Amino acid sequence: MTGPADTVLVGRAITMGAGPDGPGPVAIGLRDGLISAVVPAAQHDVLVGPGTTVVPVGDRVMLPGFVDPHAHSEVAARTRYLTVDCRAPGCRTVADVLDVLTSALPQARDGWLVGEANLFFDRKLLDGRFPTRQELDSVSRSVAIVLRCGGHLSVLNSRALELAGIDSAYRSVEHSVTGLPTVERDATGAPTGVVKEMDALLPLPDLDAGELRRALEEGMTDLFTRNGVTTVGEISETVAGIRSYDAALTSGALAARMHFYLWVPGTTTLDQACRHREWLTFAAGPEWARVQGVKMFSDGGYSAASAAMKRPYVLAGLEPGHQGHVALSRDQLVDALRRTAAAGLQLAVHANGDRAQDAVCAAFAEVLPELPEDRPTPRIEHAGNFVPDYPGATAAWRRAGITPCPQPVFIRNFGEFVPEYVGEYARRGQFPFRRLLDDGWPISGSSDVWIGSEQGQTNPFLSIAGCVGRADFHGNPLEPDQAISVEEALRMHTLHAAQALGEEHTRGSLEPGKFADIAIVDRDPRDCSAAALADVRVEQVYLGGRLVHTRAAG
Ligand SMILES: [Zn+2]
Repeated sequence: MTGPADTVLVGRAITMGAGPDGPGPVAIGLRDGLISAVVPAAQHDVLVGPGTTVVPVGDRVMLPGFVDPHAHSEVAARTRYLTVDCRAPGCRTVADVLDVLTSALPQARDGWLVGEANLFFDRKLLDGRFPTRQELDSVSRSVAIVLRCGGHLSVLNSRALELAGIDSAYRSVEHSVTGLPTVERDATGAPTGVVKEMDALLPLPDLDAGELRRALEEGMTDLFTRNGVTTVGEISETVAGIRSYDAALTSGALAARMHFYLWVPGTTTLDQACRHREWLTFAAGPEWARVQGVKMFSDGGYSAASAAMKRPYVLAGLEPGHQGHVALSRDQLVDALRRTAAAGLQLAVHANGDRAQDAVCAAFAEVLPELPEDRPTPRIEHAGNFVPDYPGATAAWRRAGITPCPQPVFIRNFGEFVPEYVGEYARRGQFPFRRLLDDGWPISGSSDVWIGSEQGQTNPFLSIAGCVGRADFHGNPLEPDQAISVEEALRMHTLHAAQALGEEHTRGSLEPGKFADIAIVDRDPRDCSAAALADVRVEQVYLGGRLVHTRAAG
């Protein structure tokens, strides 16, 4: 597709295209929102007409816009807007956390003060433990305080327990939307303040429509656009949030392509999700916003010891023999895959633990033969993070026809803590990316940004640094023999990430016919050490051929 382009970008590029990238600069033609041609820079004249703007990128480097196939951007945006940041290492000790909460008391809303702490917060504070209910009471007895340590575990003060109706007699519902709710109790049966998988059951304050819109616009710009992310595979939170994204896209206030995975049952029912066309329409147009699939949870997370494992946890304080719980039955999984496939939706099931993954794979393998060839490939979210039984697990993935969706950011977030929870066998088998790539798995990188994420978790270069340097939270390498190259890690966050959405034909590489979604960075990441990758800066972002972001000077 030659002939005049609207814009021609001339300079060095890492195209992620089919052929190997040559050393020389290229000219990339952008026309009508798409890449019209990629030619050697010396031939750029063939793309220039009277109305063409030619932009030399200088010594910067062009990359395909990043794709984040698994993010909870609404949760992250709401969190940024509404909670007090208590995360380590900003807060180093319990005392720091109490200080931050005390100074934030005037921000309490509807009688609640919500703090955000990271996953495995007890391991990240120098005290080596969570703040206690009594310590949170010392901040206030009249304001309800919740410290949300990621999405699976929270610590409540006495007022919060009271408002949530959690007392000695409290019996929790059997399943919350993320897993089995648990109230930790002391020897007398009184709640200690630690609750697991219960955040969705707490009467926390909410944003009004105007605030939600502002939170999403600010959050998306700050978390994604500034980092060169042009497509987000969004695990939906609320219907109001989805509609707000659509409105923001339509008005031009938001620069990203939003592909929604409707969270069942958190956002809607399976039945409603499969009939989404009847009630959820997008003014922004399908190339900007659409329903891509359905997301369900089959277990919880390691931080709450609620990932469903084949062997018992070794963490102290749990019931003997505790292995986590599988939340979805074989019948539910079979039904979900049949119905989503019939509706043309991609099913993404959250399964952290090896037992949960086995259950999902067994159910999917049963249904696979009856599904049409052109069905979307189902995904298992978090498969590939911890693979204790390799190649047993990968053989099960293959039989089930799934794509594993691991999160390299978790190498830093919690890799080193997993053995303390599940046992010494977890010293091996975490994030085996070298082996998975060598075995041909098109593994992607995604941020899984939620509540309790690390600073910068949505920056693909931190995720890429994790793949290359494999530094854990304290800076030690985690299974360094599984390191991969910068180029391979870039592919995980571009072309493979697009493939995880089933969108590799429309994005993920700089090739003619694909969306003109381009991130221009200040240096060639392939020349960077793992540590220096965190310093790569996104200078400009093109989305659909339009310049949507330029980095502020300084
Ligand atoms: Zn997630």
